[in-house]
Amino acid sequence: MLYIDMDYFFAACEEVRHQELKGKPLVVGSSPESEKLKGVVQTCNYEARAFGVHSAMRTSEAYKLNPNMAYVQADWNYYEEISKRIMTLLSGYKARMEADSIDEAVLEFEVGSYEEALAIGKEIKGIVRDKTGLPCTIGISSGKIFAKMVCDSAKPDGLKAVGQDGIKEFLKDRSVGKIPGVGRKTEEKLAAIGIKTIGDLSQADPMVLIDLLGSFGKELFILANGTDTSSIVDNANVVSIGRERTLDSNAHSMREVESLIKMLTKEVIGEVRRNNFVFKSIGVKARYSDFTDRLKSRSLNNYSDSEELVLKTATSLLSDLVKEKPVRKIGVRVSSLASRGGQKSLF
Ligand SMILES: [Mg+2]
Repeated sequence: MLYIDMDYFFAACEEVRHQELKGKPLVVGSSPESEKLKGVVQTCNYEARAFGVHSAMRTSEAYKLNPNMAYVQADWNYYEEISKRIMTLLSGYKARMEADSIDEAVLEFEVGSYEEALAIGKEIKGIVRDKTGLPCTIGISSGKIFAKMVCDSAKPDGLKAVGQDGIKEFLKDRSVGKIPGVGRKTEEKLAAIGIKTIGDLSQADPMVLIDLLGSFGKELFILANGTDTSSIVDNANVVSIGRERTLDSNAHSMREVESLIKMLTKEVIGEVRRNNFVFKSIGVKARYSDFTDRLKSRSLNNYSDSEELVLKTATSLLSDLVKEKPVRKIGVRVSSLASRGGQKSLF
């Protein structure tokens, strides 16, 4: 799989339209003066990182590190527009593709060798830079998780592949926190039993890991031993009917999104019935305030066009996602469509 992640995306987008800022330390986020020192760095370019500035840092702290940086207010509509252009470029490739966040995507190619995959990676980097002016990093490996980790290790403007024969060596000395999905809490739990690196993890007793972390412990053990079975949710080429909407303000609980789920469900069902469709899969999407996306879906045993079922399922799927982080946008979708008459699968 090939994982593509745009480099310092929001700041790079600003450099494209503010050429005069290129080469100077630049922070995207409200300036330290404008919000009484309460703003947060959304992202910053590498010139700013050289001073120790990083995303999620208070702009007041960034200001202390270097009082002479440029500040640009985040312009989400502009970034989403550019993101759409990049995703469109990527979806031109004959590959299964999942958009992972506003500036990250993973593509699954049928290729014969890593050399071939690297050649495709090089071509994608060139096309993205030509068409958008933006740099990106590409990581290639056997599964989505490994590809993302390889990508992270090659930033910025990198292109790197790690094949099956090199993956254990690649993982060995990295801290467990480098595995996508391993947060601070899991890291602490593992550290408490003496596991700090992925190499430690690979030699742990799997039963102990399962005791500690449930099925996630088993997944981690398998990953640490060089097998990544993570699959992608093909959300670029799915034929589906869906609606999504950005919230007025970030939601922290289901209570805040209940009425929106109802509304989106009504709209989706309206279109399903107008087209005389039935569906066999129900999915949801949450875009978090940090612009990462999470998708979840559930397959049904039988075709349906029930509004009640969509509402119930979407609510239950989203309640898992809303718990994790503040949510900025939600979506409801049905797929595996068939026409009502013969119930023959259309797609
Ligand atoms: Mg990025």
